[in-house]
Amino acid sequence: MEIKIRLGISACLLGEKVRYDGGHKLDRYLTDTLGRYVEYVPVCPEVEAGFGVPREAMHLEGDPNAPRLVTRRTQRDLTEPMLEWAKKRVLKLEAQDLCGFIFKSRSPSSGMERIPVYNEKGMPIKKGVGLFARIFMDHFPLLPVEDEGRLHDPKLRENFIECVFVFKRWRECLSRGKSRRGLIDFHTKHKLLILSHSPKHYQMMGRLVAQAKAFALDELYQTYQRLLLEALRLKTTIKKNANVLQHMMGYFKKELSSDEKQELLEIIGLYREANVPLIVPITLMNHYIRKYDQPYLKEQYYLQPHPIELQLRNHA
Ligand code: SF4
Repeated sequence: MEIKIRLGISACLLGEKVRYDGGHKLDRYLTDTLGRYVEYVPVCPEVEAGFGVPREAMHLEGDPNAPRLVTRRTQRDLTEPMLEWAKKRVLKLEAQDLCGFIFKSRSPSSGMERIPVYNEKGMPIKKGVGLFARIFMDHFPLLPVEDEGRLHDPKLRENFIECVFVFKRWRECLSRGKSRRGLIDFHTKHKLLILSHSPKHYQMMGRLVAQAKAFALDELYQTYQRLLLEALRLKTTIKKNANVLQHMMGYFKKELSSDEKQELLEIIGLYREANVPLIVPITLMNHYIRKYDQPYLKEQYYLQPHPIELQLRNHA
């Protein structure tokens, strides 16, 4: 029961000419590369709230925790129409079953972090959140979100896209109906992926699943989902990945010849020292898993959490 990955996105990133000056901010990676695997749901808060194109440029002013959206030249306060529209828009977005959202960075409406908020002296403090982005993230606190600027960082990109794919598989798991068996199956296949984010959550989730019968189904799923999303928010690191790779070796160390063991350890060592990207030890690991037909490991999403064509593990 495969579901489509639907991602919300700031419309200007798709090349839509919706910016205040009639321009766009097309991001080719998002349209041409990631776009092959996802269906985008474009949202332009300033156009959809009725401000038109072209329009006067705007920025945030006042209290960084509750800023106001104000046009730069004429000082028109557009906070209320924007908030009113945003509250209705997030309700409509519920029906889209989004697996995440990609925001436009530095926008007073769409930016998710470090947006300048001007004080009464006209000085910017980079502590604001765009008005729509704030309402969206409050309404969908579990959804993976990023902005296109941060997605240029290969590690953040990998982490976000991995979260989106896990979220999609979690949605598929839910769509099959809640059952202890379904949850155990999901968990079993994601164990090493979870371990690569957080050994602590790996243990907590393992205990929860082992005691699945002690919980009512709704409570079990709710707790599991919370722990899963908490774990995914903790970024993988070279050290954590290297530990997972060594942990994997333990599953078939009897089958590996001493030469194969040595080769694997050397490659993991090169990865640990950042001399080769993660895809290198993963490829070798996959080779041995296939050669020795290791049943538990070959089911692990950790080995291919997202399409290989996205090349997300190719950075050293
Ligand atoms: S940043 Fe947001 S509000 Fe501005 S043009 Fe893009 S989608 Fe519209």
